[in-house]
Amino acid sequence: MGLHTIVIHGGAGVIQPSMGNRDRLDPCHQGLREALDAGFLVLDQGGSALDAVTRAVASLEDNSLFNAGRGSVFNENGYHEMDAAVMRGDSLKCGAVAGVTHIRNPVLLARAVMEQSGNVFLSGKGAEDFASRIGIPGETDSYFYSRERWNQWQEVRKVHQDPGKGPERFGTVGAVAVDQKGLIASATSTGGMINKIPGRIGDSPVIGAGTYANNATCGISCTGYGEFFIRSVAAHDVSCLMEYSGLSLQDAMRRVIFEKIPSLGGSGGMIGVDAQGRGYMVFNTQGMYRGIRDSSGRLETSIFGDP
Ligand code: ASP
Repeated sequence: MGLHTIVIHGGAGVIQPSMGNRDRLDPCHQGLREALDAGFLVLDQGGSALDAVTRAVASLEDNSLFNAGRGSVFNENGYHEMDAAVMRGDSLKCGAVAGVTHIRNPVLLARAVMEQSGNVFLSGKGAEDFASRIGIPGETDSYFYSRERWNQWQEVRKVHQDPGKGPERFGTVGAVAVDQKGLIASATSTGGMINKIPGRIGDSPVIGAGTYANNATCGISCTGYGEFFIRSVAAHDVSCLMEYSGLSLQDAMRRVIFEKIPSLGGSGGMIGVDAQGRGYMVFNTQGMYRGIRDSSGRLETSIFGDP
């Protein structure tokens, strides 16, 4: 039997070592650690990978340091539209939401879409109505407001037009896990790209692009300039490279992140886990908020360093 493992990310992007003052980075490490521990506890107690990734992502959504849930960035019209997805690798069942506002934990709504709606993908007002019908709580605008995000938005509006350029334009959270029974699951949640056009949807909720899980291959959650991950169907491509070309998870992830995405002009990273519980974190940016914990005792969180 393999290891039980959880891998998480809190986004990849223009994270430079010069931004690395401890006041800023210590809380990020702590937030990653809390999410890892919440997810790993589920796995260690014999719970499911789906519960583990949902818990870990909800924990990151509740942390205003990361661009998802509470910490979501502002769009061009000054409000927050969020995307999220979950997938389980045994049945290939999945659920996703796009462009939702005022939802405290979009990952829980995505999971409810998978388990309770009979559909795979809900967007906007319909998704929000579904949430209130099944009792998923909404929040007021003030819950999603932070001065730091507001200031970031003002900076970006002043200086940059290209949604992929500039400081901290990316950010997303995600988790992949394999449990003691061999179930692989993935979850991703995001506020998307800062100053995005209202209605813009990134890769995170698009099954096969930003999120994918298949027990026969791997679980993947992506972060980065989403349009490129959609165009290259990045998460599913990793699974296909394993299934059809026999690549290892690590080689497949490296092929996508270091060859395919950059050949289109894109940047970002991804986390992955295979059925044996081997976890990897690969990125072509200067950093990616990330962490891994497994049943062999491996436990780490990192931000910069070797992809
Ligand atoms: N991929 C996300 C998006 O394009 C953003 C990110 O991961 O930073 O919406």
